[in-house]
Amino acid sequence: MDAVHVLNVESDNGHEILFVCPETECQRRLVLKRSGGMVVIDRGDFYARHVGATGPLSMTSGVAQ
Ligand SMILES: [Zn+2]
Repeated sequence: MDAVHVLNVESDNGHEILFVCPETECQRRLVLKRSGGMVVIDRGDFYARHVGATGPLSMTSGVAQ
């Protein structure tokens, strides 16, 4: 059974959104670009499914299904 972590929005400069996983043993961090694309800064728990949402944007990341 895979864990699901809900990412918090740490900052948003209008172009890029920084998401941080609040799970203490994970701490995944990634930047979602509104222009498209995503950059993972800290991989954290690679096997957890990460979900996050802000305004009209939503995203998921994790192991490819
Ligand atoms: Zn996580």
